[in-house]
Amino acid sequence: MKMILLGAPGAGKGTQATRIAEKYGIVHISTGDIFRANIKGGTEIGKLAKSYIDAGKLVPDSVTCEIVKDRLSKDDVRNGYLLDGFPRSLYQAEELNKFADIDLCLNLEVDSSLIMDRICGRRVCSCGESYHVSTLNGSNICAKCGNELYRRDDDNPETVKARLSTYNVMTAPLIAYYAAQNKLASVVCGTKTPDEVFEAVCEVLDK
Ligand code: AMP
Repeated sequence: MKMILLGAPGAGKGTQATRIAEKYGIVHISTGDIFRANIKGGTEIGKLAKSYIDAGKLVPDSVTCEIVKDRLSKDDVRNGYLLDGFPRSLYQAEELNKFADIDLCLNLEVDSSLIMDRICGRRVCSCGESYHVSTLNGSNICAKCGNELYRRDDDNPETVKARLSTYNVMTAPLIAYYAAQNKLASVVCGTKTPDEVFEAVCEVLDK
């Protein structure tokens, strides 16, 4: 299974991607995670990416597409992979076509009025889990691995506004793009819990 997970910021892509990868034994590839690891490691890619990420803009295609192309050339993706956060534009989708043959694009549909609260209240763990502050009862510890949770630098209202605008202009057209290729499946998240969304996701994937 070679798939793409699409959705606005805050749709729950990371949470669902972690679960899908575990259940179906495929590799989870998140371009956002790759950039954050580079920022943490102080690499040249990290230095470049940080200014774009902080501004809620897309990191330039030349860098992003090269990273994904290189990652997909590794042996561990042979049994399938899940791209989380890539492609994010029609240009990237066309580039992806040159080195990959995608089976499915799964779109997580989220109500835009919920996004700001979801993202600004989000706390994440280095293991990939994420939580909303309202469910943590004051705790700052990951229930899955015991590590300390943190707030992403770009999870602040100003950057979220820019990320949403970037999504609407650059990324949302991919929904029609993959629908036209009969590769699109959508799951409506509404007010569903992550477990309920995952159930709906599995129904789609098991078909
Ligand atoms: P994410 O973790 O998917 O929310 O991504 C965080 C940030 O990383 C985004 O707001 C972009 O600035 C950058 N980013 C992630 N994936 C891409 C991509 N495919 N193209 C360009 N920039 C990206």
